[in-house]
Amino acid sequence: MRRIFVAGNWKMNLSLAGTRGLVEALKKAVGAEKRLDVAVAPPFVYLAAAVEAARGSVITVAAQDVYFETEGAFTGEVSPAMLLDVGCTWTIVGHSERRHVLGETDDLIAKKVKASLDAGLKVILCVGELLEEREAGRTRDVVRTQVVKGLFDLSAETLADVVIAYEPVWAIGTGVTAKPGDANEVHGFIRGLLSEKFGDALAADMTIQYGGSVKPENAAELMGQPEVDGALVGGASLKAGPFVEIIRGALAAKGL
Ligand code: PGA
Repeated sequence: MRRIFVAGNWKMNLSLAGTRGLVEALKKAVGAEKRLDVAVAPPFVYLAAAVEAARGSVITVAAQDVYFETEGAFTGEVSPAMLLDVGCTWTIVGHSERRHVLGETDDLIAKKVKASLDAGLKVILCVGELLEEREAGRTRDVVRTQVVKGLFDLSAETLADVVIAYEPVWAIGTGVTAKPGDANEVHGFIRGLLSEKFGDALAADMTIQYGGSVKPENAAELMGQPEVDGALVGGASLKAGPFVEIIRGALAAKGL
């Protein structure tokens, strides 16, 4: 059975003290919560502090990005082994801001996914269409390409360490969420793709998060959808109160 997974993508926000304070607060509220999985993704420079603060709790720590090489002359980059070394369990790969602001391609993203999994780092692969792509009726094509290029060269065994986050780009940071039914439809489409390639059992076990303006007010409705297995939360993960409410919304929506 697939696990429900709520992760906070802090993006380029907070400070060292803010990182420690937020993880401590989350630890108090949900640090022993075993019914679902919780992760936070601070900027690289605060990862070790977040791992330290989360120690003794179920909260895991994710990087927001990674490079595909192990070591060497790659100024500014961070390898999967380094992330594991400081205690990260996860890395986000292919977030829309990396695709569309930093210009990452599906080929680069596929290399990052593979290198992370080879090293033993779990991956949250983000996919999602732009507004003009949705309006042109191309959502399925775009999502299909991103999923196929990101994952289809992997072996079925490694997919156990992958979570997909469906994040329609037009819903990220805009306050506009996908209609729960529309999100559910795309999640179902993604699961269908996985099922064709890797089989029904594996597809049924894969966690597919929704991301894009998830807030306490809409969390339960979004995660009440049968194909929506959690959330990747940006803005509303920067304070303990709303993030904990979203986690509680997930528990309620799933009857956990
Ligand atoms: P948002 O960001 O919740 O602020 O829309 C989500 C994300 O980019 O992962």
